[in-house]
Amino acid sequence: MKDTLRDLSQYRLVQRLGVPRIPVLRRYAPGQPLLDGPALVGAVGKGGLVDDVRALLAEAGVAEAGEEGKVAAAVLDATAARTLDDLAAAREFLTPAVRRLAPSGRLVLLGPVGSADDVEAAAVAQAFEGLVRSAGKEVRAGATANLLVVAPDAGADALASTLRFFLSGRSAFVSGQVVRVGAPVGPVEPGDPAQPLAGRIVVVTGAARGIGEAIADTLHRDGATIVAVDVPAAGDALARVANRTGGTALQLDITAPDAPARLLAHLRERHGRVDVVVHNAGITRDKLLANMDADRWNAVLAVNLRSQLAINQALLADADLLGDSARIVCISSMSGIAGNRGQTNYAASKAGVIGMVRALAPQLAGRGATINAVAPGFIETAMTAKMPLATREAGRRVNSLRQGGLPVDVAEAVGWLAQAATAGVTGQAVRVDGQNMLGA
Ligand code: NAD
Repeated sequence: MKDTLRDLSQYRLVQRLGVPRIPVLRRYAPGQPLLDGPALVGAVGKGGLVDDVRALLAEAGVAEAGEEGKVAAAVLDATAARTLDDLAAAREFLTPAVRRLAPSGRLVLLGPVGSADDVEAAAVAQAFEGLVRSAGKEVRAGATANLLVVAPDAGADALASTLRFFLSGRSAFVSGQVVRVGAPVGPVEPGDPAQPLAGRIVVVTGAARGIGEAIADTLHRDGATIVAVDVPAAGDALARVANRTGGTALQLDITAPDAPARLLAHLRERHGRVDVVVHNAGITRDKLLANMDADRWNAVLAVNLRSQLAINQALLADADLLGDSARIVCISSMSGIAGNRGQTNYAASKAGVIGMVRALAPQLAGRGATINAVAPGFIETAMTAKMPLATREAGRRVNSLRQGGLPVDVAEAVGWLAQAATAGVTGQAVRVDGQNMLGA
């Protein structure tokens, strides 16, 4: 769906009428450099990761910024911060850094985990969340601000794929997020940043259109072979996606009682294993709770949550189908975090997905696997195009980037979490919503 207001707001004449310019976001395209300009790098105290950050940037061909001029990114290693004086030192770095941030610039803070027996350190660790979430609302022209809380035992290798994601155009619609990077669940193979999913077999449910189709295309662009799953009625579109992504199509209603068994049989027979499962298929059947009937309730819970539980259970029960460094990514929704009028069924299902992810993470860690949720906000799809104009406009503008996201923005986040190299992020929900004002 065209964002006419954003397009018009690029013209001076329209800006003179008082319409603020809505930024055109820098999105990833193959061959694009990690950043379009130099990066400012700093540390609070000893900052144990600052040399690794510099090495990662140098390897990506990013120059370190001098004393003046615009910067494409500012990265502060505040993992050593323990005191309010350390917090003040972070502010000293950030104030001039934010002034120098170029359009679509990236502010990435590496924060401490805090400590149970040091109250000031715990307060300071949490303070960074408030700081970064506020900075996300202040930075302009498509810039973003995110906090990566890095555990002492995470190691620089486990941080690399996440840091790259948040610096790159792949995270165009992700801002104000707090992501915890912990000890990796298995060995971290650095891989090729341009083809981070090379050789991976990836199942995508609901792949025939919308966000699922974008996930299939984007993960295939990054090297994956796609197993595209959707209902038989979407068969033609599904076949086109499978052909395009060098994979196979499976016509399957994921709510059918034999769906997990059929999916696992398809994977075993056609591919021999599965590396990544993306639970994307989802439906809405909106009604106020006062008028909610069992059919609407059950239909939404069946597609959005029950099917994911059943498929995950079957995968875990299977001794050898999940490949090494397996990744499960579940599509949740901002509604599941913030709630939404008329969506008690949908929000329950999407919040349930986040609960499932948290509970399964420790079980999967023992197998070197991770599970995470991606919670999209307002995304420009056929679903949101059908909204009445006023609702659509409101939905688009109530976030820090003042526009709707694209299906590819959700897909890029899925791609980051699907990488074998992203072994230190698990049990989390990451919002792709331009830092929507609703919810946390
Ligand atoms: P969509 O309706 O365009 O596509 C969903 C796909 O899932 C369709 O191809 C559909 O046939 C398939 N599907 C539905 N029921 C199925 C079943 N029982 N078995 C197999 N496939 C089934 O939706 P979308 O906008 O692309 O959304 C994709 C996901 O993102 C959903 O989980 C949705 O809840 C979530 N989401 C979307 C938005 C948004 O703004 N569009 C926001 C937040 C979350």
